[in-house]
Amino acid sequence: MTGGLEGYDAVAEANAQKSVLAIHWSRICERLKAEVGEVEYRTWLRQITVGPVEEDEITLYLPTRFLRDWVRGQYGDRLGALWHAEVPAIRRVELQVARPSAQPAPDAVAQEASAAPAAAAPSEPAVPAVAPVAAESPRQAEVRSDLAAPLEPRFTFDTFVVGKPNEFAYACARRVAERPSSPGFNPLFLYGGVGLGKTHLMHAIGAELLRGGKVSVAYMSAEKFMYRFIGAIRSQSTLEFKDQLRSVDVLMIDDLQFLIGKDNTQDEFFHTFNALVDAGRQIVVSADKSPSDLSGLEDRLRTRLGCGMVADIHATTFELRISILEAKAAASGVVVPAKVLEFLAHKITSNVRELEGALNRLIAHANLFGRPVTLEATQDVLHDILKAHDRRVTIEEIQRKVAEHWNTRLTDMFSARRGRAVARPRQVAMYLAKQLTSRSYPEIGRKFGNRDHTTVMYGVTKVEQLMAQDPAFAEDVELLRRMLET
Ligand code: ADP
Ligand code: MG
Repeated sequence: MTGGLEGYDAVAEANAQKSVLAIHWSRICERLKAEVGEVEYRTWLRQITVGPVEEDEITLYLPTRFLRDWVRGQYGDRLGALWHAEVPAIRRVELQVARPSAQPAPDAVAQEASAAPAAAAPSEPAVPAVAPVAAESPRQAEVRSDLAAPLEPRFTFDTFVVGKPNEFAYACARRVAERPSSPGFNPLFLYGGVGLGKTHLMHAIGAELLRGGKVSVAYMSAEKFMYRFIGAIRSQSTLEFKDQLRSVDVLMIDDLQFLIGKDNTQDEFFHTFNALVDAGRQIVVSADKSPSDLSGLEDRLRTRLGCGMVADIHATTFELRISILEAKAAASGVVVPAKVLEFLAHKITSNVRELEGALNRLIAHANLFGRPVTLEATQDVLHDILKAHDRRVTIEEIQRKVAEHWNTRLTDMFSARRGRAVARPRQVAMYLAKQLTSRSYPEIGRKFGNRDHTTVMYGVTKVEQLMAQDPAFAEDVELLRRMLET
């Protein structure tokens, strides 16, 4: 039941590429600042913005010809060397003149860099969520399109990967999109943890309904609802606001938990809610908890919210994470080996947004530098993300468990003995160390009696080969892995 991902967004990929470069650039800027001093940096270098990479050349922009020539003369070589040190695939720097307005300021780029791992946030959505716009007067049209947030074009049913944890919520969402306002499905209340697809499903409902035409859909976060409401009170236009809200066919409010403790806004929402449902319109609401667990919500609102269909999205399973990664990798056109997908699905279990962010970064790197995605490259490119997700299994723990499992002495993990009875468990421990920690080959080597990194690489490959040939052995290793992971 895996949805296709034809809609994979080239824009999202380009953004991911940009943020990868931005990460490198912000590091280079730090070094430049340290080398040339703050004043020099501010005068000449701060105005540089990063352009595209083509083959082994990166383009950097400066706002004027004068600056470009000066920077080229004074810092050209240094910039080239720093880029090469940061990204070995880059060997040349091309300096060009570009109007600053066309490019983000370096500080903005650096900010983007620090936010890069979470780059999955909806970017520049394009489809307005209110359609058709009633165009009685220009002003009215404006207010109306301001009523709702735009829909993210990437979030459709086609791009939603279905598995056990979300199949019920998915089925309910589809049902509402096909036949809004059916009894039993109004309101539809979707709940689940962060990054599990609630917003995606709501936008998918909206997109599907808009495709059918003739329906007005308003989607907004509860937070936006509140600000709009407060704004309306301030400008004494609450009646207008109410009328607008009550004129839509489908109202979707995302992250309702935000209204907890905001009594006036809850009150307003309650009345809007009743008016719409009574008029046969559809309401879709999401929250991080079920209606009964949303403490702080008014009882009457809680009761009404639970009256329709309540569907939860459970935490992802390993299988679902793999399906999602497979679909997204396939849609990107970059070949990502199964081993890498499994590694990611094992490592990043918290939510789909982070999983997606990690994969996007890998794909951006592969496209940017034209290098194949390997496990090694993955560990390198995603070092910071993986570190945050490290389950903190230590190499010592791995060695102990593996030695126990094969009844060998722990000291044989470090000893120079080479018989197969001691060498095999040692290789398995090396393999697991590579899989379960973010340590590099040389680091692992040091923990195994100061062995060379090539010995570790050989051991890891050997275990992979054996696992492919011998299912019983593979099962043993998998069992060990699972024991160590929990
Ligand atoms: P929530 O609103 O529950 O916090 P989102 O709907 O924003 O989560 O999802 C976070 C990211 O993960 C989005 O980019 C979304 O497309 C993606 N995502 C979540 N679940 C799935 C899924 N089942 N299939 C494909 N993408 C998913
Ligand atoms: Mg959300």
